[in-house]
Amino acid sequence: MICVRGIRIPLKGHRRLDGNLAHELPLATERALALLRLDEGQTRRTTILRRSIDARKPRGPGRAADPNVVIEFTCGVELKDPRAERAVVNRLGNPRVALAAPDAFAWPERAARPLPHRPVVVGAGCAGLFCALALAHAGLAPLLVEQGDDCARRTAAVRAFAQGGPLDPLSNVQFGLGGAGTFSDGKLSTGTRDASHRLILEALHAAGAPERILVDSHPHVGSDLLPGIVERLVAAIGELGGEVRVRTRMTGLGLERGRVASVELERDGTSEAIAASTVILATGHSARDVFELLAGLGVPLEQKPFAVGVRVEHLQATVDADRYGRWAGHPALGAASYRAAWKASGGRRCFTFCMCPGGQVMAAASEPHGVVTNGASETARDGANANAALLVNVLPEDLDSPDPLAGIAWQRRLERAAYEAGGGDFAAPAQLVGDFLRGTPSTGPGSVRPTYPRGVSWGAIDGLFPAYVTDTLREALGALPRTLPFFGEDDAVLTAPESRSSSPVRIPRTDALMHPNVAGLYPVGEGAGWAGGIMSAAADGIRAARAIVASLG
Ligand SMILES: Cc1cc2nc3c(=O)[nH]c(=O)nc-3n(C[C@H](O)[C@H](O)[C@H](O)COP(=O)(O)OP(=O)(O)OC[C@H]3O[C@@H](n4cnc5c(N)ncnc54)[C@H](O)[C@@H]3O)c2cc1C
Repeated sequence: MICVRGIRIPLKGHRRLDGNLAHELPLATERALALLRLDEGQTRRTTILRRSIDARKPRGPGRAADPNVVIEFTCGVELKDPRAERAVVNRLGNPRVALAAPDAFAWPERAARPLPHRPVVVGAGCAGLFCALALAHAGLAPLLVEQGDDCARRTAAVRAFAQGGPLDPLSNVQFGLGGAGTFSDGKLSTGTRDASHRLILEALHAAGAPERILVDSHPHVGSDLLPGIVERLVAAIGELGGEVRVRTRMTGLGLERGRVASVELERDGTSEAIAASTVILATGHSARDVFELLAGLGVPLEQKPFAVGVRVEHLQATVDADRYGRWAGHPALGAASYRAAWKASGGRRCFTFCMCPGGQVMAAASEPHGVVTNGASETARDGANANAALLVNVLPEDLDSPDPLAGIAWQRRLERAAYEAGGGDFAAPAQLVGDFLRGTPSTGPGSVRPTYPRGVSWGAIDGLFPAYVTDTLREALGALPRTLPFFGEDDAVLTAPESRSSSPVRIPRTDALMHPNVAGLYPVGEGAGWAGGIMSAAADGIRAARAIVASLG
């Protein structure tokens, strides 16, 4: 296949650019063939391989002007005579034209020999699911255990909690089949590079994610589709010889002479210990009991930097108008997103994270007496508000103890303080940006209605955080309107706290991905401090599976 990059088509004057790939393909193909100096009769098939939006505004004084929006495509062109493709590429000598490299990354081959016991993957989040899928492909018949419910029961529990019902500490936005990813926004963009990314996207597509995740430069699934996708991934693990048990919690780990010997599992109040030589710990950053369990066993853990802050909500229409000018609402663009970062005078960083266009602020608690916010959107991204986390980094030296678990205690204190400040029924403390900047408590919303489902308690959020967090947030909120004017909206809402964006603990591991002090223990994913986000957690799970298969020769 010939790959033609950099096909840039301005939105202006091209009505066929409407976000529908079937409508856009002929336009992109026309440009690709013109560049290749070929006609359609010579081709067997053309495809869009990648689509991105360039909506940069002119620099300098014209900055406030409308952007010259361009849709940029990479096209794949297959010729009727595939042997002629190389000649076409060589004849042109254009750096934008190349033969598509075959994607060499695949699921692991069958393992050379079995393990002494089947591998146990603990935690069915992105890391655990993809690790189990890869181990199953290798014929190692993994057992995947998840403390929370299957997606149907979990969806009911999450919905009931959002509507004011009780919190199920084992089945909520953080815990249950699919992990934190199931009720996530499902943005699949990542700052990491890994050869497995294409494989992960294809597996998600095969499990029901829209085809355009294979093409979009910022792929997005949406929280309405994710539970079905997770159930289909689980079914695939079963079909390949693995076993998945829900409502099954790892409560103990047996260690003998520096290696894993067993795991203790609990289901419906009944415990069983099973012999195990390979345990993949994919329990996520919210499994605080697992960190405590490891610390209690004397397994070395480390502190690591993390970040806390607030969810900020604006009207999506304001964000669209700022980003896209007169093109706001154009079907080729969808709801606009943004990213921002600010280095405060004291050197601390403030940055947006997990921006959810047309989304909703989530009630993401997993412990009683603790409020946690996060954000998500549905596939259509058609909610009235845009939300994003606005975070400040917290460093190990900010903590009051060298204990590896000090960061968890710090997060928990923040979440409990927010619970108290919110009135004790999972309402979240909230303040308008204008009031926050002026240092005045808020009494109610303005034009932006907060979407946090358990309700908000208006007031001041300063008291929840140490001064270095609020000072940095204030400085950033004062500066960001220079590049993103809507950040200057007085009525934007800050809902607190966003405390679970990353793990405050790292579980060390060697190049073979095993804990240096516990043979057979593979810490993976976000909780172990080796990933952040859906794609990197899934890639880390696959990496661990490959390391296990490689260890078998
Ligand atoms: C609302 C929300 C929106 C998000 N949006 C995005 C997004 O758009 N894009 C993105 O890239 N990331 C997003 N994230 C983050 C993303 O979901 C995580 O990075 C990812 O899920 C981490 O995967 P993981 O497998 O490492 O851990 P988790 O997903 O946390 O999975 C860990 C699993 O282990 C289970 N477990 C814990 N302890 C035990 C035990 N003792 N026994 C058995 N099971 C156990 C837990 O119940 C859980 O299901 C979002 C998160 C949330 C909450």
